[in-house]
Amino acid sequence: MLSDLAQLPSIHRLLAHPALALARRDRAASQLREAARTAVAEARASISSGAAGPSLDVLADRVIEIMGHRDLPAYPEVINATGVLIHTNLGRSPRLAAVEGSYLALEFDLAAGQRGERLGPVVERLTRYFRAEAATVVTNGAAALVLLLAARAAGRQVLVSRGELIEIGGSFRLPEVMAAAGARLVEVGCTNRTRASDYEAAIGPETAAILVVHRSNFHLSGFVSTPELPTLVELGRKHKLPVWVDQGSGCHLDLAAYGLRHEATVQEIYTAGAEVVLCSADKLLGGPQAGLILGREDAIAPLRRHPLRRALRPDRTVLCSLASTLDHYLAERAEDIPLYRLLCTSPESLKRRARRLAATARRDGHRAEARPTRSVLGGGTTPDQTLPSWGVWLPGGEELARRLRSGYPPVIGRIEDDQVVLDLRAVWPAQDAVLARAIVAAASAKMP
Ligand SMILES: *Cc1c(COP(=O)(O)O)cnc(C)c1O
Repeated sequence: MLSDLAQLPSIHRLLAHPALALARRDRAASQLREAARTAVAEARASISSGAAGPSLDVLADRVIEIMGHRDLPAYPEVINATGVLIHTNLGRSPRLAAVEGSYLALEFDLAAGQRGERLGPVVERLTRYFRAEAATVVTNGAAALVLLLAARAAGRQVLVSRGELIEIGGSFRLPEVMAAAGARLVEVGCTNRTRASDYEAAIGPETAAILVVHRSNFHLSGFVSTPELPTLVELGRKHKLPVWVDQGSGCHLDLAAYGLRHEATVQEIYTAGAEVVLCSADKLLGGPQAGLILGREDAIAPLRRHPLRRALRPDRTVLCSLASTLDHYLAERAEDIPLYRLLCTSPESLKRRARRLAATARRDGHRAEARPTRSVLGGGTTPDQTLPSWGVWLPGGEELARRLRSGYPPVIGRIEDDQVVLDLRAVWPAQDAVLARAIVAAASAKMP
């Protein structure tokens, strides 16, 4: 017992434990010290009453537990073990490193020494990368649609197929967004089949455009048909009407290279003759939240002049992050984008890591098993497709999932057949050590 007491670490040594790295960054030093003192005092008391001394790892976990969630950062970093790469509740695409520093030449022309164009650098990169004549940027995909409709279709009719009247998340329902922007929705065709002749029959003097909307989060199969984009573009030309495409996902690379089905890219849609293409920047582009509007110069100019554009303009950190995301693509280095690094991880390496994690948990006396699983891209991108992955299965259901979420950093998994599945597809290898400790800590915790 005496030797156990003597082996209790100093506060200094306990605070240097790797499991406390995030806490050292995010928490006040005084708060950490206080929690460490409490943890060591508890250990001393339990040794004095005859129990064995805790290991340094267990003490570090206890420090985190004592600090609890009370002073977590407002938006804590989490380990995403859900197997959903673009997770709407976890900020969609993984973040590029945040931009730090003081002042930026944001709206400043360095050569002329006077006020510059805020969106200029981003717009230049967008037009170069997507080979579009013109572009602009707003806060998100929904705002892009609102601005387009308000500037180009207020009080007029816009034709949409009944198979594309989508709802994305709770607050984006296409008919409601269109109404809010002041455009009049004209539904054409049926849910499963819409023909070019359905669009043509609906065209009248009040028609402003044909709008095509990506089926981002569902898949239609069976007796279905939709006209190809070139057919609609042809129909539009005949009636002097533009075709606008809300492509949504921001797909711009050939997904076949990542083991998924190819889907029409922003560039392909623009080349096929769409006058305007809209998409989100934080889905398949893997960038910050923003809405991209690409199109012909005469199509975009009215948007630039519309008063709503000022209200929908993105923050500077978004502009910086979007510009640097595009720089990676322009340099043909998609692998620099976190989302694509996750997509490229081989199932073999996920398998090795899953086995190692499961073995660590078993060594500590817990049931854990590494098994193959399937991940999804998510975020309204490729609704009916999955990617091969590996995960760790842990018995313990909702209760264990809750304990994993309440650790620090929180670990978010999924439940399958009352087991917690921690899918490694969206977990960084550098997080494995912390994840292993989180598993052991959560599995060891007593039921409340
Ligand atoms: C995701 C999506 C939107 C909304 O974009 P946000 O960036 O979430 O506002 C709109 N349309 C489609 C087709 C989408 O997939």
